[in-house]
Amino acid sequence: MEMEIGKAGRRDLAREIERLKRERGATILVHNYQPPEIQAIADMLGDSFDLSRRAATTDAELIVFCGVHFMAESAAVLAPEKTVLLPRPDAGCPMADMATAPALRDLKRRHPRAAVVCYVNSSAEVKAESDVCCTSANAVQVVNSMAEDELLFVPDRNLALYAQRFTSKRIVPWNGYCPIHHRFTADELRAAREAHPGAVVVVHPECTPDVIDLADEVLSTSGMIRFAAEAPVREIIVGTEEGMLQRLRREFPDKEFILPSDCLLCVNMKKIGLEDVVASLRSVQPVISVPEEIASGARRALERMLTVPRNI
Ligand code: SF4
Repeated sequence: MEMEIGKAGRRDLAREIERLKRERGATILVHNYQPPEIQAIADMLGDSFDLSRRAATTDAELIVFCGVHFMAESAAVLAPEKTVLLPRPDAGCPMADMATAPALRDLKRRHPRAAVVCYVNSSAEVKAESDVCCTSANAVQVVNSMAEDELLFVPDRNLALYAQRFTSKRIVPWNGYCPIHHRFTADELRAAREAHPGAVVVVHPECTPDVIDLADEVLSTSGMIRFAAEAPVREIIVGTEEGMLQRLRREFPDKEFILPSDCLLCVNMKKIGLEDVVASLRSVQPVISVPEEIASGARRALERMLTVPRNI
C-alpha cells in the first residue's frame, strides 16, 4: 500500500497527521515493530513497557496507538479518562489470543497456592485474572519480586522458560507462544553466525530455548537499543521482528544489523498505514475501551508491574 502511495503521498499524509494531531490534542505512541513510515510519526517509539507508562502519564486527551490490540487495551486500562484509538482494530496478537480468562481460572483452581504472572501480550480479561503483569524487559525482576514459590506464567511459554533460568521459584508455563519468534530456528541462527563470524548475536526472550542457548545476549527491544548504543561492536545479528532492525539501522547508521531469518515478520504489526492514522484522527475512531469491571483488575496487575524496578 505504501509503495502505491509513493514518497510525496507519504509526506502529505504525514503533514495531515501532524495537523490533525495538533487540532485534536493527540499523542501518537508507536511500537518498535511498526513499519518505518509509522515509526516516523511517533511522539514516542518504544516497547510495551515504555508505551504503557507513557499512556498513563501523558497530558494528551487522545492517544493514537500504533501497535496491536492488547497494547491499546493496556493504554485504555491505565488511562481510563483518555480516549485510545487503534487505527486498525483487526491488528491483533496471536499469542495474546492463546490465553483466555476461563482457561486461566481453571488452571488457578488446580494451583491454589500459585500467583499468576502475566506477560503484557495478553487480553485485559487475562490480566484481570492475574496478580501482576510483566514485559520481556522485566520478566525476571517481576518473577523474583513475588512472595509465592509457585508461579503460573501466561501466555508465553518461551518467556516463562527464560525467566525460569534466573529464579528458584517453580514456574508453570502456559502453552502459548509468539508464532513469529517461535518459528525462528537454531539452524537459521547458526547459518547467520557462519555467514557473519564477527557478529554478536542478540535475541528476544520470546525465542525458543535452543535459539536462546546460542545467543550472546537475550534482550527486550529497549535492551537492544541500549546494547546497540553502548556495545563496542560493529555487526549485530538481531533475532527479533524485522521492524526493530529498521529502527536500529536508522539510529545507528555506522553499525550493521543482520536479520537472521525471513520469517521474523509479524503481519499484525504491519497492518496500520499512514492513511489509517489519518482516518482514525479524523473520525476519532475506532476507540478501544475496556469495561471497568475488567479494567480495574487489569489495572491492578499492570500498576503492580510498574512498581517493580526495571533492569534491561
Ligand atoms: S510479534 Fe508476536 S507477540 Fe508481537 S504482536 Fe506479533 S504475534 Fe504478537
